[in-house]
Amino acid sequence: KKSDIGIYGLGVMGQNLALNFNDNEFRVSAFNRKLPGEDNLVKEFMNGPASKTAIQGFEEVEDFVQSIKPPRKILIMVKAGAPVDSVIDQLRPLLDEGDILIDGGNSHHADTNRRSDMLENQNIYYVGTGVSGGEEGARNGPSLMPGGSEKAWPEIKPLFESIAATSPDGDACCSWMGSAGAGHFVKMVHNGIEYAIMQMIAECYEIMRLGMQMDNADIAQTFSSWNSDLLSSYLLEITADIFRVKDPEDDRTYIIDHILDKAGQKGTGRWTALTALELGVPLPMITEAVFARTMSSFKDLRIKASEEFEVNTIPLLKKESLDQLREALLGGQLIAFSEGFWLLRAAKQEYGWEIPFAEVADTWSGGCIIRSALLKPIAASFREKPELQHLLLAPLLKEMTNSVHENWRLIAAHAVESGLAVPVTAAALAHFDSLRSERLPANLIQAQRDYFGAHQYERTDQPRGKFFHTKWKERLQ
Ligand code: NDP
Repeated sequence: KKSDIGIYGLGVMGQNLALNFNDNEFRVSAFNRKLPGEDNLVKEFMNGPASKTAIQGFEEVEDFVQSIKPPRKILIMVKAGAPVDSVIDQLRPLLDEGDILIDGGNSHHADTNRRSDMLENQNIYYVGTGVSGGEEGARNGPSLMPGGSEKAWPEIKPLFESIAATSPDGDACCSWMGSAGAGHFVKMVHNGIEYAIMQMIAECYEIMRLGMQMDNADIAQTFSSWNSDLLSSYLLEITADIFRVKDPEDDRTYIIDHILDKAGQKGTGRWTALTALELGVPLPMITEAVFARTMSSFKDLRIKASEEFEVNTIPLLKKESLDQLREALLGGQLIAFSEGFWLLRAAKQEYGWEIPFAEVADTWSGGCIIRSALLKPIAASFREKPELQHLLLAPLLKEMTNSVHENWRLIAAHAVESGLAVPVTAAALAHFDSLRSERLPANLIQAQRDYFGAHQYERTDQPRGKFFHTKWKERLQ
């Protein structure tokens, strides 16, 4: 009997997604390339995790393709970049018109645009789908963000909805995000938000550890107690767990204290920041989170500089400050989501994608790394007003922001005074303060530009779009 879906690439994600489809009673064909001298991943998978399943493994790509029911649906789960192109080149001659290729890796949306154009010309439907939730999500229910050839959606919808996570409201965490690279774009923005929230939580840890002299058990307890109501989220849940895990080498100590403070990154945060710069959308918090990881990677330089400068930390009173810090974290999360949705809005305008904002929030509310109770009011806000320009202007979020910004400011001020590096807390606050400033000092920037470069400026007392130039030197008294 032919399979409902084929999975090409049996890495961490491919294997777990195959098992998830199998659990949902879809027939799965599985394939992985075999490099000379390397272990046979197909055999390993079939003899290991897939041994008691109905999954069929194939060692020849032709047999793999032939084993799938037409119109074929093949999910490619390989490393993003050139490997995806080489897999497409390998599969293309074996496919028939109407077959569907799905790329579930973290591909760049521009690559997905290109691939989808090329394949649609040959009547092969192409879908680029964001998959979030890591290994565990892939196995038990990921959040899925598909986009691409619209005609493929009805074909793959039942499969995707069956394996996806379920939101707190009981819906599948999976929605069609629009044409071409829209799905991968939404996944990229998801990851940008993830960078910002992770860094914000890390800065709370820094303030607790140094500013309030809290120990790991106390920090675990605090994060755990925060993980409720509006702050309830997957990232807080795992953070609380992390502070409870002892070092296997020495169980009198915690692993967290032995982990080198150099953050890695695979590039989706950087893509988000670069795209924001290209589309002209201010994403200071997300961009700063990328820089914070980059700054952390200069460990040796930081060690050298730390010997040169000394700043004394001013202690914080734990009892009051923890409540303030909790509010700062909420404020930061509101900005992280606001920035992400602002970029999605810009992409919708720039690329003409029909990204459904409320459904994006629903899709992120289960299964994925940034799942959070905040996504419910965010979805409701977009349902009420789909063209909302900035999330903070939605009544529900405005109220939350108003209730936290004073304490958020106190925390940021204290951290700066104490010499603690809190780049994302400060950048998020600056986003908020710039947004709510009716007047910014940009009049001076315009004057400077006009002075040195005759770039001209608009006047407050004249209609917008009318430009003026001043001969600054001549008018000096
Ligand atoms: P792994 O590193 O576990 O597996 C990578 C897979 O890609 C392997 O099957 C590998 O085959 C295959 N591959 C690499 N190069 C080629 C090539 N040139 N031709 C054919 N196959 C190739 O990766 P993951 O499963 O973790 O990730 C797969 C994709 O999913 C990536 O794009 C990743 O960014 C994305 N992703 C990962 C998440 C995670 O949490 N891990 C979450 C969401 C998305 P071989 O063994 O032969 O090298």
